[in-house]
Amino acid sequence: MSIIINYLIQALFWGIIFNFPLLFIIIKLKLLTMPGGIITGASIAIMIYIISPFLWCALLLFFLTSSILSKQSTPQKRIITSEFSKDSTRDSIQVLSNSFPALFFGILFLLFDFFPFIENYKTFSILINSPLIFAAFATIATHNSDTWMTEIGIKSSSLPRLITDLKKYVPKGTSGGVTLKGTIAGLTGSVIISLIYIIQAVLYFKINIFLVISQVILLILVGTLGGLIDSFEGATIQGLYYCEHCQKETERQMHRCGNTTKFMKGYRLITNDIVNISSAFVSGILAVIGYSLIEYLF
Ligand SMILES: [Zn+2]
Repeated sequence: MSIIINYLIQALFWGIIFNFPLLFIIIKLKLLTMPGGIITGASIAIMIYIISPFLWCALLLFFLTSSILSKQSTPQKRIITSEFSKDSTRDSIQVLSNSFPALFFGILFLLFDFFPFIENYKTFSILINSPLIFAAFATIATHNSDTWMTEIGIKSSSLPRLITDLKKYVPKGTSGGVTLKGTIAGLTGSVIISLIYIIQAVLYFKINIFLVISQVILLILVGTLGGLIDSFEGATIQGLYYCEHCQKETERQMHRCGNTTKFMKGYRLITNDIVNISSAFVSGILAVIGYSLIEYLF
């Protein structure tokens, strides 16, 4: 027990040290709303650091690249995005929905795969090969894939097609609209997160290279699949509204023009945040199944 407490205190200390300078950058660049987004974001970042410093690197990479992508918008893209959804400064609910699945699998990892064996490891949880920490990586790969898909897909010169009916073209910014450029971007977003997993695996896992390669391919695939599931849910169950004044589809109940929108399709309870969380969970569960299958085969 005292080893666990010792570990937690040590990780908390380093978590605060490493996250402190970041907080300044985030406030300076206005990447999160004050104070809700900042407080939620900082607490989550520290908790993720305690779970695994490598998972923290992955979360950071997701947060920074997706923030850069959404800030670096053309005027045309800004109109499409603001017509359809919220602005690029993330509020606390969005931050939470983007990290809750990673936190969930991460805490399970600590409880079942790390704390019981902590005496063998003593210091950091980075030394452990576990399907649960793998699932936590998969949820972040999903969020990154989804963000890259959306942000880069919207810049595509061709019109998006509906994911549930690929023959049908839909206006840019429509929930469930996919483009080839966006899908490739989503795959790249997933690869970026997997790089952190590769570094961790190469540095610390004393396991064979084929196992690591299979795991990384699996991670890239479930991450991208998660991004596509996000789009699929956007096209099927997400609550969507229509602004009669602007004649535009939106996920907002109050359009940016100030008019109340009319409910159009999906379920009112299934907001964009719910879609983000659930697609990441599906990807995490697939990751656990795939991981166990690979372990079994090797
Ligand atoms: Zn409107």
